[in-house]
Amino acid sequence: MKTFKEWIDHHIKEMAIGKYELRGDWDTSKKIGAQTGFRSTNNNYSSKDMKLVSGKSGIERIKNRWLKTKNTWDLYFVRSNIASKFSEIGEVDSNWIKTNLQEDIQANPNAISIIYTGNAAGDRTPMTPWILAHRAAHTLFEGGMRSFALLLSDVLKKSTIAAYGIASDIQTNRPNLDRVLGILNSIGTMKSSTNNSIDRPGEFVHELVAQFLISGRIQFNSLPKNLLSSGTYHDNPDALNKQNIKRDVSRWEDEHPGVDVHSKAPGGGPHSVETYYQRLIAPYSDHKVKEIEEEKIKAGNAILQASIPELESSIQKICDSAVGKIYLM
Ligand SMILES: [Zn+2]
Repeated sequence: MKTFKEWIDHHIKEMAIGKYELRGDWDTSKKIGAQTGFRSTNNNYSSKDMKLVSGKSGIERIKNRWLKTKNTWDLYFVRSNIASKFSEIGEVDSNWIKTNLQEDIQANPNAISIIYTGNAAGDRTPMTPWILAHRAAHTLFEGGMRSFALLLSDVLKKSTIAAYGIASDIQTNRPNLDRVLGILNSIGTMKSSTNNSIDRPGEFVHELVAQFLISGRIQFNSLPKNLLSSGTYHDNPDALNKQNIKRDVSRWEDEHPGVDVHSKAPGGGPHSVETYYQRLIAPYSDHKVKEIEEEKIKAGNAILQASIPELESSIQKICDSAVGKIYLM
């Protein structure tokens, strides 16, 4: 049983960043970072990342934006060729760290320790305070975060059954993926959702955790009022269609560097640019809107809003159980 003071300390006092350590070589003139193989990206710190995590104002910003979390977080940024070979490992211990990273990092019994070894997505996603929180969610997922994803899935199912008579959840794959993404981009209040840029349900889970760590709470917008006949929900179907096309095209461009997706390739074989472009755009051209009764949307929203405290405490529980452990992102 906790004393009242301990309870107050735990629930009221905001903890945030404990240790903040830069390890390895932070000389900007040196190129450090291993090829990970995935799309031949480097797990390294871009010059922008180095500014964000090792510059004086960058560090200040991170400390200021991580103030709402109820736990203490020890953040370690390791910059070395050896360390850059490892990412998204999940829980590790000081022996593993000594052997693999050649660093001495001890678990802090009063903090959650996270080690960052670089940023494989540095060209697209710089290491802002928000992204560091998002990445922390990734690595905590290697442990117990799945229970949160299951709870969220359950909440989404219940609220979409109430609103649309169809269970939509984050475990869905194609062909219902667009519908789920439409819902997630509608209900999310973080930038990634309002920009319509959540392109995988799992990312929404990490974004909610980041929102909780940074702002201290989860917030949902309303469920979309329209159901599209092709299965996509959104308040603004035209915007969603454009977003989906943009998303698929940019993903295609990512996978085919140097090829202009708008150019017409001769031949028309299965991998020609022209065929691919048609395939990307065609699925979004025949959406029909079906309006859902307001009462049903209200019922779905009520379930969604009522679930927030439980979702928040689920993340908090996972964070609490990560105290005293070390995670490698
Ligand atoms: Zn992510």
